[in-house]
Amino acid sequence: MADCSYQFGGRVAVVTGGASGIGASLVQALQQAGARAAVWDLQPPAAAGAGDALFCRVDVTEPASIQAALAQTLARLGRVDMLINSAGITGPTMALDAFDDAVWQRVIAINLVGVYNVCKAVVPVLRTQGYGRVVNIASLAGKEGTPNASAYSAAKAGVLALTKSLGKELAGSGVLVNAVAPAAVRTPILEQMAPEHVATMVAKSPMGRLGEPEEIAAQVLWLASDACSFSTGAVFDVSGGRATY
Ligand code: NAD
Repeated sequence: MADCSYQFGGRVAVVTGGASGIGASLVQALQQAGARAAVWDLQPPAAAGAGDALFCRVDVTEPASIQAALAQTLARLGRVDMLINSAGITGPTMALDAFDDAVWQRVIAINLVGVYNVCKAVVPVLRTQGYGRVVNIASLAGKEGTPNASAYSAAKAGVLALTKSLGKELAGSGVLVNAVAPAAVRTPILEQMAPEHVATMVAKSPMGRLGEPEEIAAQVLWLASDACSFSTGAVFDVSGGRATY
């Protein structure tokens, strides 16, 4: 019988991008459910809301910073049970031929290679203990494609494929790997987008609104818990009714 109580007492979650938006909401939700959390981010979390989370300064494009954060997390919190990959940027909104090559590659480096880098460091810890939950925050853009956001969409499609591959690779090890694909969510990342782009996303939503960070956190909480026991390599839309294929 699955444990549906979301009691994470004693468990430790690493949340990349945990200083802001969806990641910050998750840190709060995990702590409320009894987990201890390590925020791996470029910037420290705002004091309010982060509880007593351990902050480790990490750039997900730099494996050395990830290794240092892993060592610090294990030394301070003793273990890692859950890994939530939420760090990401949208990058500029522009046509493919206008993209600066270095910027295109930077969007891929953070949003896709960053997830690979963090998984590569943390998954061996989970596999060795025979238990773990990995949840990658992808995007509907990775399923649908988004005009003038080719790098972001390609990176998120890569995260979905990485999730499916790693889920199959680790099936039977006790480590489950899943992804959520949110539509537009009310977080600071939306401030990087043109207002008309945000308005288009709302117009496409069958529910006619943005998602809230807590609504993504609620789905991730389930995927990070023991209540999720027969799903791996799967993608869960949290999208107000958009694109469920
Ligand atoms: P956000 O900007 O509020 O938070 C992103 C966090 O990632 C920030 O704290 C930032 O410092 C951190 N970060 C960025 N680059 C980093 C790096 N190189 N190394 C470490 N940390 C880094 O954005 P958000 O909306 O909470 O986005 C979280 C995730 O959700 C992202 O992966 C984003 O692509 C995805 N997502 C967001 C939306 C949305 O509409 N908000 C929709 C779909 C998917």
